[in-house]
Amino acid sequence: MSEELQLHEQGEKIFVSIRLRPLQDKARNRICDWECVNNDTIVFKNSLPERSMFPAAYTFDRVFDSESNTIQVYEEGAKHIALSVLEASIFAYGQTSSGKTYTMRGITEYAVSDIYDCIERQEERDFVVKFCAMEIYNEAVRDLLSPDSYPLRVLDDPERGTVVEKLTEVALRDRDHLHELLTICEAQRQIGETALNETSSRSHQILRLTIESSAREYAGAGNSSILAASVNFVDLAGSERASQTSAAGTRLKEGCHINRSLLTLGTVIRKLSKGRTGHVPYRDSKLTRILQNALGGNARTAIICTMSPERIHVEQSRNTLLFAKCAREVRTNAQVNLIMSDKALVKQLQRELARLEKEMRSLGSASVKGDTAGVLREKEKLIGQ
Ligand code: ADP
Ligand code: MG
Repeated sequence: MSEELQLHEQGEKIFVSIRLRPLQDKARNRICDWECVNNDTIVFKNSLPERSMFPAAYTFDRVFDSESNTIQVYEEGAKHIALSVLEASIFAYGQTSSGKTYTMRGITEYAVSDIYDCIERQEERDFVVKFCAMEIYNEAVRDLLSPDSYPLRVLDDPERGTVVEKLTEVALRDRDHLHELLTICEAQRQIGETALNETSSRSHQILRLTIESSAREYAGAGNSSILAASVNFVDLAGSERASQTSAAGTRLKEGCHINRSLLTLGTVIRKLSKGRTGHVPYRDSKLTRILQNALGGNARTAIICTMSPERIHVEQSRNTLLFAKCAREVRTNAQVNLIMSDKALVKQLQRELARLEKEMRSLGSASVKGDTAGVLREKEKLIGQ
């Protein structure tokens, strides 16, 4: 992937696109009020009386009309983010049944395929690809790769940032292995859905792929650092929850109806869109804690906002566009692609050194074997370098 290694300017914007779902069969005779007039502008073309209260045209990085297919959405709206060899995140945002899951399934598949193509082209490096998957429902984080459904704790790690404790991480054998795991995740998600009504529209799913690579032939300490990149694929809960709960104050009392993660995501995006002044409440929800880096930190981000075209959904569609407008103002700060830095490597070697020293002490200084001492000297030399 080295040809794609690049340092990005500070303050890169989130890449925001809109995807209009086709009218559904049973709704064929209904009217679609939205039209993508070109590559980046969507227009509300209907003549409802209250029309004048809202802007008619909305411009984004890219808009996809209902004719476009997912490969196009991927190629033009997500690929450059997914393959940027950094911490990257791709979100789908929109009301229930607007096409988030449909879109993310395709995007994940195309991205994985491209990532593996990249890996196979890189003969001089060794790759380890790891995968984990989680679902956040009612502020409980569940491992989608484990049959246990107990909630996992979210912890702060001084080195790695926010981590989900005991989350299963699987090192992938090949792309087929990933497909197997994706099937497991989907099944797990469906089990939840039948157990708890409506789970899928109220839960967030995060799939995370981590790609670590190291030079195949050891060529001195300079080349020994491990490059790591990760991609998060995020299928968010239906956005109608957020707007309903914030619009009707009474609902806030009904604990189970509040999607705290989605509300907080909205607040975080709004705050970030106004520049990074003041407090950004990442810590108010599990979703924003886990994705803090993706939202305002060291990451490249794309958001695909999906819209239902039917007139009955016009209010939700407008809310989606407002969210998308806000998201477009957010600047992330992606610049580092070395996840295991030389500093971390030195730390790792120091730990190894300490371990060897301990081993030696337990053997007793008299019985120190020449080769152990040799390894130790080698390590010390490495750290020095
Ligand atoms: P969400 O995840 O936002 O609730 P889904 O992805 O489940 O919505 O989509 C709802 C329905 O619409 C599904 O049956 C899906 O197959 C269909 N659908 C969504 N987007 C498209 C699209 N772009 N083209 C064709 N069918 C779509
Ligand atoms: Mg869905």
